[in-house]
Amino acid sequence: MLKTIRYCPYCGDSLQSGWWEGRNRLHCSGCDSIIYENPLPATCVVVSYPPDRVLLVKRSIEPKLGQWCLPGGFIEIDETPPEGALRELKEETGLTGNDPLLLGVSVTPGTIYKSILMVGYLVTDFQGSPQAGDDASEVGIFDLSELPQVAFSSHAEFIRQFAGDRFDRAAE
Ligand SMILES: [Zn+2]
Repeated sequence: MLKTIRYCPYCGDSLQSGWWEGRNRLHCSGCDSIIYENPLPATCVVVSYPPDRVLLVKRSIEPKLGQWCLPGGFIEIDETPPEGALRELKEETGLTGNDPLLLGVSVTPGTIYKSILMVGYLVTDFQGSPQAGDDASEVGIFDLSELPQVAFSSHAEFIRQFAGDRFDRAAE
């Protein structure tokens, strides 16, 4: 279910919607703050097992519980995007990744938050053998020609960017 902002995060007063700074926004008259809503930054990681396999995790939490996706999650307040990507990789799979390579950035509507800014990385250099951790019930290494349905369109797009025409079955 989509979460919406109802009260001022600074003073707790109720918010009014109105025309502020060129578009319709929420405003708090209690502390005279405009409540800016922005895409929420998250990361995900394509872990490549040469020549043609990638790692996916099966989600153990909502949204999309039980579906496969790339390891990833929201960037913490004191992290850079690559730091967040490698932390999430470690938490969900136990793998220690090095030198994440930027695949791209996308913005897609979210199911809990309105809009997600997803920063996609490729990791080819890593240590460890994958084991499901936080938020994941299973880790799988799949041939690009036999991928299961991928839970998020942004993740599927990064796999497609990495794999090109080796990836022909991605679904959302
Ligand atoms: Zn306020």
